[in-house]
Amino acid sequence: MNSQNSSQIKLLELENKFKTIFGCNSLGAYRTPARINLIGEHIDYNGGKVLPCAISYFMTGLYSLNKDKKIVAYSNNFDSKFSANLETISYKKRNSWSNYVFGVFAILQQEGYKITQGMNILIDSNIPLGSGLSSSASLLDLVFFIANDVLKLEINLETIAKLAQKTENEFCGLKCGIMDQAAIALGQKNKAILLDCGKFKYEYKDMALRTYSFVVLKTNIPHNLVKSKYNERVDECNRALEILKQKFNIDNLCQLYEYQLPECEKLLNDPILFKRVRHVVTENERVQQFSAAMTAGKVEEMGRLLCESHKSLKEDYEVTGDYLDTIVDASMNAFAIGARMTGGGFGGCAIALIKNRYFEDFRFRVDKEYFAKLKVHPDIEEVDIVDGPIKLK
Ligand code: ADP
Ligand code: MG
Repeated sequence: MNSQNSSQIKLLELENKFKTIFGCNSLGAYRTPARINLIGEHIDYNGGKVLPCAISYFMTGLYSLNKDKKIVAYSNNFDSKFSANLETISYKKRNSWSNYVFGVFAILQQEGYKITQGMNILIDSNIPLGSGLSSSASLLDLVFFIANDVLKLEINLETIAKLAQKTENEFCGLKCGIMDQAAIALGQKNKAILLDCGKFKYEYKDMALRTYSFVVLKTNIPHNLVKSKYNERVDECNRALEILKQKFNIDNLCQLYEYQLPECEKLLNDPILFKRVRHVVTENERVQQFSAAMTAGKVEEMGRLLCESHKSLKEDYEVTGDYLDTIVDASMNAFAIGARMTGGGFGGCAIALIKNRYFEDFRFRVDKEYFAKLKVHPDIEEVDIVDGPIKLK
């Protein structure tokens, strides 16, 4: 069976499920991808440049309208249903995953969009959640995309990304940058997005790697987005910025240059804060170098930069941990050109750049070394670089 047939069958199954759950037919179906970030980690919230792309894992959403002025959300993955009144939506811990759905409608109304129509929404996804491939941003973008299309709100994709970030920040409580929501909303087939998060400017970079490709390696240890740890890094960067602003004329840490680091070290007078700043500044530099190497087809140089990025995230930013370090080491021992963690860290996923024809051998070797050390099998998969949100039906 080809993949088009199997996704049609899957959609039929979801339509039937929708009928069972909501007692009516769905009126339309949409989907959003997941994302990996090639390089530029933990610098989106520091005004840096990042280089993500949308990948072939998907979040699907079906909807119908209701007359109760309610948002009713069902997740096929959790097999649970939640409901909220449009007029009284607020964050509630007991609403669990559905806060991501309700948050979208809360933020839309806060932004002045009149939502007069209740909706039933079914969610189904094969994006591993809590694995750093951004299931949360995919879910937020998906619900914004559906609401925008169905309620004719005329919001463009850039604004969807910004509103989705606002929802994750203000409604869900994670101080994340704009990268994940933008990577998914703006994804294009076989392109990476060079995104300047400070200015919200972006350009597409060709990802024709010919005989090489990126693979995704799941450590199978969910990162649980150790929300507090992520937010702790954001706070450390903000503290460092406040101190450095007294000397440098900057709005964010990515406006600093490497040659200024020795002076930063003196001003900060705090080894931990200095390490965080050193990661941010060198990582931002690596993104430019990586992007130039990709344009020039210098694969070895790209690989070297991936490894440097991982080292910096391990030693200076301290967000990797045993599982990510082991899978990156095992990748390099299995002849990857380069490898690094991707996403927030603390578990989750890594990426490796490998020669296509070695994939099976690569997978075998990495699995063996990783399992021998950690007694967990990783999942190692080839992925396609895909378009952002689409309407399926
Ligand atoms: P990541 O974005 O890296 O996957 P997060 O911790 O940021 O990890 O987001 C995971 C959360 O997103 C889940 O705990 C859940 O609340 C929500 N989520 C993801 N996928 C689904 C799904 N299929 N159905 C319902 N909620 C989901
Ligand atoms: Mg997330």
